[in-house]
Amino acid sequence: MSHLAIYPGSFDPITNGHLSIIRRGLEIFDGLVVAVLNNTSKESLFSVEERIELMRDAVGRDPRVEFDSFEGLLVEYARRRQTFVVLRGLRAVSDFEYEFQLANMNRKLEPRIDTLFMMTGEDSFYISSRLVREVATLGGDVSSMVPPNCAAKLAQRFGKQ
Ligand code: ADP
Repeated sequence: MSHLAIYPGSFDPITNGHLSIIRRGLEIFDGLVVAVLNNTSKESLFSVEERIELMRDAVGRDPRVEFDSFEGLLVEYARRRQTFVVLRGLRAVSDFEYEFQLANMNRKLEPRIDTLFMMTGEDSFYISSRLVREVATLGGDVSSMVPPNCAAKLAQRFGKQ
């Protein structure tokens, strides 16, 4: 039996922090389903398709990683996929409270679900998609925080000409 986990998030856009969780997750699980939340009520920088394309390029060809998207509740998605381990990354203490609530809520809604947390490496604990978005849209250089293809796409869209 192979052990799979769902790694859900907005990934708008992918950062080196996400990449680190994917790489390290693959040391533990046989495969990962990276599931992009399609949140229609939240304005996003990149479309779901663009986010997946950026991630696919950044991760490279690896049959153990599947990219998918979902709308609505994660528990519904987990049931549909029959995959009940959720992988999440933890940065600072500030992530903990929200993640703790989310993990408990998900388990209330679907008792088979368990959430596994991986701590970030020290080189990516300060990186968040939100900050990358803010800095990039103001023309700042985020190339040390995101994979090269993502930096190029951000520079193309927001960089100084
Ligand atoms: P959200 O799920 O809140 O939309 P993201 O899409 O940015 O957030 O992140 C998806 C997952 O990746 C979350 O579990 C988040 O904690 C984790 N993550 C984000 N940035 C990092 C980072 N720098 N290091 C480790 N994990 C991270």
